[in-house]
Amino acid sequence: MTDHPHLVPLSTAVARERERHRHLVDAAVAWQADHERPTDPDLFALICAAAEEALHDELAPTRWTRTGVHHLLRCDLPNWCSLRRCLLPDGEVAALWRWFDFLHGTGRLDPRSDPVAELRKPLACAGWLDQDGRPLPEDGPRQVECECFLPYREGALLLGELAQAAVDRGEDVLDPLRRALGRPVRPAWWDGGLADGPLGWSGSGP
Ligand SMILES: [Zn+2]
Repeated sequence: MTDHPHLVPLSTAVARERERHRHLVDAAVAWQADHERPTDPDLFALICAAAEEALHDELAPTRWTRTGVHHLLRCDLPNWCSLRRCLLPDGEVAALWRWFDFLHGTGRLDPRSDPVAELRKPLACAGWLDQDGRPLPEDGPRQVECECFLPYREGALLLGELAQAAVDRGEDVLDPLRRALGRPVRPAWWDGGLADGPLGWSGSGP
């Protein structure tokens, strides 16, 4: 790959960032010393580099949000590599999974970040990883629903308020959302399971 005359090897492209973030990257390398397949430190350096340049002011090498992770995957990482004429390396998404584990496990995750479980979701959705952070087979089904564009904290608060208001009115918690999307709401007589659940209801009644 990197013997193409116009391509810059990743190790060269990230050399400055690896030096600038050496305390963090070295700590991650030490943290994963016992892991069976350690992540290449250049992949960690690339995470730091792309997070620093991200056009998303919630991102930094130690500060992450769910929507920011999605933006990094879709835009910041590919842009960073393309501007330096290096290929986006295989394994970068799995490296992010490990990076979040490292930050969380060593107390380095900025408390303004979203919880680690939320940061993993775009990696599983847009990044096609399984629930252990390993690549899914190409034909394997995605294991999460997409929340990549939904900001975690305000989104959860608003949805919680909406659900509580629905409960207070005696409605199903999802009815306000179904109405907003023009979907049929769950009828009052509904007590069925999810197998042919509310979204499949035709609205024709019993
Ligand atoms: Zn998604």
